[in-house]
Amino acid sequence: MLTRPDVAIVGAGPVGLAIAWRCASRGLRVTVHDPAPGSGASHVAAGMLSPVAEAYFGEHELTGLLAESAARWPRFAADLAEAAGVDVGYRADGTLVVGLTADDLAEARRLWSYQQGLGLPITPLRPSELRDREPALAPRVRGGAVAPGDHQVDPRRLVAALRVAAERAGAVLRPARVGALSEVDARVTVVAAGCGAAALTGLPVRPVKGQVLRLRAPGRGAPDFRHVIRGYADGESIYLVPRDSGEVVVGATVEERADTEVTAGAVLRLLRAAVDLVPELAEYELVEATAGLRPGTPDNAPVIGPLPGRPGVLVATGHHRHGIVLTPVTADLVTELIVTGEPDPLLAPFTPDRFGKEPRWN
Ligand SMILES: Cc1cc2nc3c(=O)[nH]c(=O)nc-3n(C[C@H](O)[C@H](O)[C@H](O)COP(=O)(O)OP(=O)(O)OC[C@H]3O[C@@H](n4cnc5c(N)ncnc54)[C@H](O)[C@@H]3O)c2cc1C
Repeated sequence: MLTRPDVAIVGAGPVGLAIAWRCASRGLRVTVHDPAPGSGASHVAAGMLSPVAEAYFGEHELTGLLAESAARWPRFAADLAEAAGVDVGYRADGTLVVGLTADDLAEARRLWSYQQGLGLPITPLRPSELRDREPALAPRVRGGAVAPGDHQVDPRRLVAALRVAAERAGAVLRPARVGALSEVDARVTVVAAGCGAAALTGLPVRPVKGQVLRLRAPGRGAPDFRHVIRGYADGESIYLVPRDSGEVVVGATVEERADTEVTAGAVLRLLRAAVDLVPELAEYELVEATAGLRPGTPDNAPVIGPLPGRPGVLVATGHHRHGIVLTPVTADLVTELIVTGEPDPLLAPFTPDRFGKEPRWN
């Protein structure tokens, strides 16, 4: 008979697998339960690590956590590459925030002025400076700013690497869905099931649908632009994430829906905005159109910590638009909590008890 694990993790997305890797590396016996590892939001995600461009009005605590996790990313990527022998596609070329029309630029500037006010590293550029940095931008683009510390990683490679690293460290993957927490027997259970966490915990985690496209540069070379490009094009919020493989991720819709259908209207809007910003994309191959479900919460921040009323159960979910950038800090905080029993002060704003007796979402 197998011994009872120290830690059972429900969900093998980036969050669950990173916790599994870190815990197993600390000598804990770990199992990870998931019928389809890596099939959640991470399969669709763009992989922007954007603590600055994703700093929104009224989200101070989340902004702080994004910065903390982004700062841990270079070390995390290097450790993971060494542990797994898989390159996760971490790139530090920076991000350009742009506006196509005068109205788009005003909208982009409203947000980056706020970000500058917080002391975050984002610098407005003259149109000529913008085009010097990224000649692939359309001449019509009115202006923009650069956030040099906003980087990117390939989420599919990340999950593949985390799976190898976790298993090499001794974690055991169990390919089965968990229908209720009573099915899992371990000293500590960690619910890291993305949107699946709502049914298991009653926490207000809801699906927020996002549709994305994947294009490929002609001839399978790298795209002609290096920065992540994000901003507005005729009122459409859009981002373009170029990878060394030749892939460009074009995203994303934000819809209060729980289905994963790809709609013609979304594809049309994403492609039009993408080609308006970078005309050469019209010559790229359209390789994939997919939709995923972000695990959203009422305050857009993750839910990390002990589940009230359930001794021995921790949650690490609700990462919404930020689960990739937040993977390192989430894994570190949860692992420390399990190993030492002491919550890091960083956790305080994100614990599940902040939702009080709020009714469950579904
Ligand atoms: C279109 C889109 C673009 C995005 N872009 C970015 C980005 O650029 N940067 C960024 O930081 N984040 C981005 N995100 C968000 C990011 O993908 C998520 O926050 C992240 O994937 C959450 O990780 P997770 O491990 O918690 O959940 P998921 O990745 O959703 O994985 C959850 C796992 O749990 C499993 N599971 C669910 N229920 C059960 C159950 N009952 N039993 C067992 N297993 C279960 C699923 O099979 C799945 O494998 C994006 C998301 C979308 C949809």
